[in-house]
Amino acid sequence: EGGARTVGLTKVYGSGGTAVRALDGVTVEFPAERFTAIMGPSGAGKSTLMHCVAGLDTATSGRVFVGGTELGGLSDRALTRLRRERVGLVFQAFNLVPALSAADNITLPLTLAGRRPDREWHDLVVRVLGLGNRLRHRPAQLSGGQAQRVALARALVTRPEIVFADEPTGNLDSRTGAEVLAFLRRAVDDLGQTVAMVTHDPVAAARADAVIFLADGRVADVMRHPTAARVL
Ligand code: ADP
Ligand code: ADP
Repeated sequence: EGGARTVGLTKVYGSGGTAVRALDGVTVEFPAERFTAIMGPSGAGKSTLMHCVAGLDTATSGRVFVGGTELGGLSDRALTRLRRERVGLVFQAFNLVPALSAADNITLPLTLAGRRPDREWHDLVVRVLGLGNRLRHRPAQLSGGQAQRVALARALVTRPEIVFADEPTGNLDSRTGAEVLAFLRRAVDDLGQTVAMVTHDPVAAARADAVIFLADGRVADVMRHPTAARVL
């Protein structure tokens, strides 16, 4: 059972007069094997939603499920494990380790977890992302699009229940951005992965299967089969 969902997720930062209600009763679904975009103005709660579902932050109230597992019921240790092995993260800045080859960057989550790569899955990910001839390169020797694909391969290598991409096209020119979006789509369509993406870019959002619009910590709208014109 892949995918993730929240039920009445509320996140309050701080307390008393300075408390900030970053999320206020958010119920959303990231269906398995679908590509969901999260949009909304700055401060709407997009990062907080991503962090709560990815187990990087804990809910103040409400429920978060990754696959069939409710995060609120987990010990710190189990939560750390879930974060490492059942959620994948792709950051705008790639966060690749400069001293490691692309190959070693990709398998790093497995190395850290003391797991061996599932060779068949690893090779499939590398092939689908077109990284076969880049594996020996260091991050500095990769183009922006290649580095983003290595970061995506690293997020996929544990075969997580959901992958979050935070503004994956934010630092890229439009052509490279389109290429990265095509690879996110392949992760969903060819590898059967569940992908969620925070973005400000309507063209990027239009590649998703659905767009969740947040405003002031609430779900303002959910659009299925988005187009750039409708997202704008
Ligand atoms: P977005 O990603 O849509 O820009 P965020 O989730 O980053 O929105 O932020 C939602 C609200 O929560 C904002 O008002 C922000 O200032 C606040 N916020 C986010 N993180 C923290 C934090 N660690 N401490 C206090 N307030 C925070
Ligand atoms: P399709 O024809 O592609 O199956 P449908 O219009 O039948 O699409 O349904 C849209 C699909 O989008 C549903 O299966 C629904 O589960 C899914 N979906 C994708 N993202 C979301 C989301 N964030 N919230 C709710 N449903 C979503």
